[in-house]
Amino acid sequence: VHTNHDELLTHLRTTVGEASVLTGDGLEAYEVDWRKRYRGRALAVVRPRSTDEVAAVVRLCRRHGVAIVPQGGHTGLVGGGTPDDSGRQVVLQLGRLNRVRAFDEANFSMTVEAGCVLQSVQEAAAARGLWFPLSLAAEGSCTIGGNLATNAGGTQVLRFGNARELCLGLEVVTADGQVWDGLGGLRKDNTGYSLRDLFIGSEGTLGVITAAVLQLVPRPVAQVTALAAVPDLDAAVSLLRTATARCGASLTAFEVMNPLSLELVARHVPGLSPPWAGHAVPPSAWTVLLEVSDGESEAHAQALLESALGEALEHDHVLEALVASSVAHSRQFWHLREAIPLAQAAEGLNLKHDISIPVSRIPAFVAATDRSVQAVSPGARMVTFGHLGDGNLHYNVQAPAGVEPSGYLQAFEPAINACVYDAVQAHGGSISAEHGIGALKRDELERRKSAVALALMRSIKQALDPADLFNPGRLLRRR
Ligand code: FAD
Ligand code: ZN
Repeated sequence: VHTNHDELLTHLRTTVGEASVLTGDGLEAYEVDWRKRYRGRALAVVRPRSTDEVAAVVRLCRRHGVAIVPQGGHTGLVGGGTPDDSGRQVVLQLGRLNRVRAFDEANFSMTVEAGCVLQSVQEAAAARGLWFPLSLAAEGSCTIGGNLATNAGGTQVLRFGNARELCLGLEVVTADGQVWDGLGGLRKDNTGYSLRDLFIGSEGTLGVITAAVLQLVPRPVAQVTALAAVPDLDAAVSLLRTATARCGASLTAFEVMNPLSLELVARHVPGLSPPWAGHAVPPSAWTVLLEVSDGESEAHAQALLESALGEALEHDHVLEALVASSVAHSRQFWHLREAIPLAQAAEGLNLKHDISIPVSRIPAFVAATDRSVQAVSPGARMVTFGHLGDGNLHYNVQAPAGVEPSGYLQAFEPAINACVYDAVQAHGGSISAEHGIGALKRDELERRKSAVALALMRSIKQALDPADLFNPGRLLRRR
């Protein structure tokens, strides 16, 4: 450790208190990412309690030329919140900024600090009879700051948008340690560049989000799901059109699952399988989960789903369908969808691609990409599922049956990624729909974005963080 590092640690301890500066061993939770693909080593983990303390920490690190890695719940999937292994970066952990600052029920908004856990924000809104609709499987540990820094998506995007659409304002500590107060809570504000939108999705590379004004909506009276077996992806896209026309804004989720993804669930989660297991549904059928959130009643929600599914059945876009009859039944359907990542993990290491394509082009994309992946790696098992309503697929690839996965991944990852991302590009899609760039996709971004787009991004980084203080080498290459 450099002398100036010791001096920095001393300053940090006097600024935020001895107990808020963690060093040494036992810091794995902050140094190893959720998927255990990135293992770093931090100079220190600093846990401030207030925006002013965050600003003071930023000024100190800047003065000592020490880089900062902002971190919330550390559930990110692209290695963006994990320090590198140099032992010279400070992890700025925001979990203690966890107060709800204000409620404005007439404005349908609440102001929360960045370290609030998503689930606790949902609960605070529910306690007031309101709903914060951002929802994802990591909600028990991810934070609002991390959700906004990655512009998280999740299961309600179809109706309510990504984290960006649910944010009315931000408070941010800038790279020179100043506090930008943008907590206005306005739905209309055309006074120049949208600074808020610049920080949302910037993955901790432009500033530290310390608080946010969140958009709330009325709580639905009923949420009902249905499962439908469809002959193929084309039929799923047709069903999406029918359901959108029949259910309108009440349609809050439209998820798709290929046969293998549910086969893995049945194998690894005892007792969980689609309700038509054993019926005359062909093994090649895909499964769709639809959700309707309704302001009237459960019966009204069920009627909406039945009318959409009835029309699709007539046109042979649906083979068989079941509308949930109770809240517990609806949860069971969601459980099927949410168990896929765990079932995949239990089956063994796999390659994940979080991509988006215009909905209309998804069937052609999957057909073409399945073919080219099979050409590169015969027998590769395609686990394809995701948020079809948002044009977002988790296009994951598992080693052929009986093949040891880690050696397989090492040998085939580059070739398979090239197949997938070439096809994404050819179909006008994006290499990251939800999870961001971080460390994992930085080089891929550089290969795929236009020179003009990359130059614009670099000038934004240069303007807002000229010393490369925040998350250097993440999202964009180090200068
Ligand atoms: P972290 O992991 O701590 O950080 C993520 C990034 O944001 C890092 O680059 C970090 O530097 C930066 N950051 C964190 N806090 C701040 C801050 N206050 N200011 C500035 N920068 C900051 N994502 C989806 O979009 N949709 C999903 O459906 C989804 N499902 C998931 C399911 C599971 C089981 C898991 C583990 C993850 C999932 N994710 C999903 C990934 C998603 O990005 C994160 O769960 C979440 O949004 C990140 O929040 P976090 O607090 O854990 O952030
Ligand atoms: Zn997802």
